[in-house]
Amino acid sequence: MAVIIRKPIKKYIAFFLLALMGGSVLAGLWLVKQRNLKQSQSYELLAAMPSSFVNSCQKASLQYNVPWELLASVYQVSAEHGLGKQLNEDEDIENIAKAISQSKARNSLNLDTTIIMHSMNVPFSIALEIRARGRLIANKSYLYSGAYSFPYAVAPYYTDTWGADRAGGRKHEGTDLFLPEGTPIYSVCSGKVEKLGWNKLGGERVGIRGNDQIYYYYAHLAEINPDLYTGMKVNRGALLGYTGHTGDAIATPDHLHFGMELPGGKWINPYNFLRYWQVANVLPISK
Ligand SMILES: [Zn+2]
Repeated sequence: MAVIIRKPIKKYIAFFLLALMGGSVLAGLWLVKQRNLKQSQSYELLAAMPSSFVNSCQKASLQYNVPWELLASVYQVSAEHGLGKQLNEDEDIENIAKAISQSKARNSLNLDTTIIMHSMNVPFSIALEIRARGRLIANKSYLYSGAYSFPYAVAPYYTDTWGADRAGGRKHEGTDLFLPEGTPIYSVCSGKVEKLGWNKLGGERVGIRGNDQIYYYYAHLAEINPDLYTGMKVNRGALLGYTGHTGDAIATPDHLHFGMELPGGKWINPYNFLRYWQVANVLPISK
């Protein structure tokens, strides 16, 4: 009798354990998916901010020693709720930075919402939203100091030309950084060489799959560093090659076309990232 009862119980236990294991695996996969989704969201969030706005936030951030992403979130969320004026106003952002630096909120994104409420004079629900937005922007590796750097050791000329018209009805899906032929180009992050060599539009190009899973595209090089090979691991700051005007840039001044593609295949505007990395490297900002 005892044997007859035990066997099914063992079966149930085994089934239960299997279900538990399966469930854990599924939950793990779901968490990874959520994390990647959030990462893409925050990259898009930064890419979509007006660059003058990002520059203002950075300027005020350096001056008052307040995290720039906090300024950005305070200003953005307040504006969305009709509490701020228009975006891109240097003076407003500076005032917010001043208020935060005078409060205990300084240098912390784990902000007490009451501090945001009092220093910004906003209701609780908006303070919560500001905190969440700040975390979404801040919780990303592209902001970690030392994780990324600018692709040049000297300051190039570059503007935001995202979406500008290009030959054949195409739109510009990157940022052009102008420097003389032969100026060395360095990897903005650590990752793996995914694509290397000639393509019709990009000319001599290097494609790096960053450790953040973003694809970084460097085009129109005069020459690729001959030591590189596909699948090679590279560190941030690795020499990728030299500035040129190959591919469809054959008739234009020497420049680096820099592109960033999300893991799903969507290109995003890299301009704000470049500005951020340039400031993080304490290089002069060109106009
Ligand atoms: Zn370009």
